[in-house]
Amino acid sequence: MKGMLKPVEAAYRFRIYPTPEQENLLNRTFGCVRVVYNRARALREAAWTERKERCGFTQTNAMLTALKKQPEFVWLNDVSSVPLQQALRHLDVAYRNFFQRRARYPKFRRKDGPQSAEFTKSGFNHRDGRLTLAKMAEPLDVVWSRDLPSEPTTVTVTREADGRWYVSCRVIATVETLSGGDVVGIDLGLKDFAVLSTGETIANPRHLAKRQKRLARLQRRLAKKVKGSKNREKAKLKAARAHASVRHARNDFLHQLSTRLIRENQTICVETLSVTGMLRAKLHSRSIADAGWSEFGCMLACKAAWYGRKLVKIDRFYPSTKTCSECGATGHALTLADREWTCPNCGAFHDRDINAARNILAAGLAVSACGAGVSLGVPRHSEPSAVKQEPVLRSSGIPRL
Ligand SMILES: [Zn+2]
Repeated sequence: MKGMLKPVEAAYRFRIYPTPEQENLLNRTFGCVRVVYNRARALREAAWTERKERCGFTQTNAMLTALKKQPEFVWLNDVSSVPLQQALRHLDVAYRNFFQRRARYPKFRRKDGPQSAEFTKSGFNHRDGRLTLAKMAEPLDVVWSRDLPSEPTTVTVTREADGRWYVSCRVIATVETLSGGDVVGIDLGLKDFAVLSTGETIANPRHLAKRQKRLARLQRRLAKKVKGSKNREKAKLKAARAHASVRHARNDFLHQLSTRLIRENQTICVETLSVTGMLRAKLHSRSIADAGWSEFGCMLACKAAWYGRKLVKIDRFYPSTKTCSECGATGHALTLADREWTCPNCGAFHDRDINAARNILAAGLAVSACGAGVSLGVPRHSEPSAVKQEPVLRSSGIPRL
């Protein structure tokens, strides 16, 4: 059956090679973005903790205008004002996510790590395959590895910690909706990445584990280097490169898996994981952060919406592990070490994770049959999910076609 053509928002990312002058301008822009963001964050925090006042975009924007008039901050006028205002909008979103318990409290922006600046329509010019940013004399040297399906609405320049430069263009693309297919329940695991209700186990890819090992080794080496030394700088760059390679490999894996699941199934049931809560509890925090579950949930949600598939999220307090998927008897006490168990009620022998995935599928189908939690919706009784509302905004979760 032919699907419907549907316009969706997508991000296309390209490598760029800025000239020394462009690098200089962009680095200064990043510095200004950081200062403005951090000052606005301090202002919002003080307004809230000292005077119990709400402070939103309008107030922080007024702060920016006042700041630019002060002699010690005149350099803020040397860069485009667009990314500075965008930084205030991002901060606003970060606070909203925090107040709605979707994310942790916004952090200060740091000088190390990736830096980025976002330009809306008024801050860039794209014509005949040439992309020029505000205050830039020459167009950027962009490696256009694929054609843009439409004019970009937003352009974000990023300098990764490994020193590589990228530009991400937000565009309207067209996808064809899918129909037909199976139903599946997914249990996200610690030992394996995921187990499906079909009995299939999806392991964390081996090349990823190898890269993670190398990264850990480089990070240990970096920790031993004297602060401020040349050797430390070298070790830092090496670690940053290894980190980028881990991230790319993991994103490739997550993209392939989420695309496959969306193509094969019309309904996908997955447990909501309060990843922020789990990270806060420092419970298995390393493997959770590495597993990239929140990115995975983000990709699934995004692609389900694109292709007209149904994603049902099951309350994470649902006892998917302790319930027998054969007879429904519940309350069987299991520890994390119990990989297999026999139901005392009906005698069925279960693999812990496959049983959980089957229960998630059954619960998901029940929820979707009575109309709650359809497609993108989170069941009302569930925890706020770790999946962000605006998945396209996250560079790591950029949906790919
Ligand atoms: Zn049973």
